[in-house]
Amino acid sequence: MESFRRASAAVIGWRITGVVADDPIVVPMPEFVHRLVGGRVVDVTRHGKVMGIVVRRRRHDDTIDVHFGMSGRVIVNGRAPIEELSYAASDDARWHRFTMRFDRGTLVLSDPRRFARVTSAQDRADLGPDAWSIDLRTFRERLSGRRTAVKAVLLDQSVVAGLGNMLVDEILMKSGVDPRRSTASLDATAVAAVHRNTRAVLDRLWKRGGSHAGDLAVELRHPGASCPVDGTPLARANVGGRTTFWCPKHQV
Ligand SMILES: [Zn+2]
Repeated sequence: MESFRRASAAVIGWRITGVVADDPIVVPMPEFVHRLVGGRVVDVTRHGKVMGIVVRRRRHDDTIDVHFGMSGRVIVNGRAPIEELSYAASDDARWHRFTMRFDRGTLVLSDPRRFARVTSAQDRADLGPDAWSIDLRTFRERLSGRRTAVKAVLLDQSVVAGLGNMLVDEILMKSGVDPRRSTASLDATAVAAVHRNTRAVLDRLWKRGGSHAGDLAVELRHPGASCPVDGTPLARANVGGRTTFWCPKHQV
């Protein structure tokens, strides 16, 4: 872990020119890293097993938290830390889950097993239970009594951690639940379906090892797309601050 931090410290002073953050499991909320493009890395810290990349943009500091999981590795300018040479030798571009491009090079998070996570440090204190491993009873407790739209509640990282915009749309489509519905209005069967489909969608993404692999993949997220279940033209609106697609026929 400390070797990752030391290797990553090379990027201090570098300016971010772009990020690739399209793996919805490893980077569940990619917007915040995209917002940091143009900023400059001012520090690289470590808190236990979490590495923090501190970025200053418009006189404001933000920290990208990198959780390496079991198999995550950092590669700076094509080189892994010296202790990790064996991994560098077997690196594969398909394992590159998160890439930061700078004016002077690149930093890549490589993880064959996708247990790594890239999150905002702002979420660190109040991150909810992990969306993949949460049990039904805890899931029900986390959702209970919330009157806001179920889409917004599932995206709230303090309720459950790890679900991004496209994943939530897909989970709700599979569950037949209208994303605009008040969470408190869901009966026990609907909550169980959402819980079950959350696990199923994450499981399948994991197995395929690729991003955008859901039924609501990129090609479906445009006006005029139709429901993969019943062919009904999908509705589109802003729900919980995010562009949302759903089927007006089978999602109730
Ligand atoms: Zn439908």
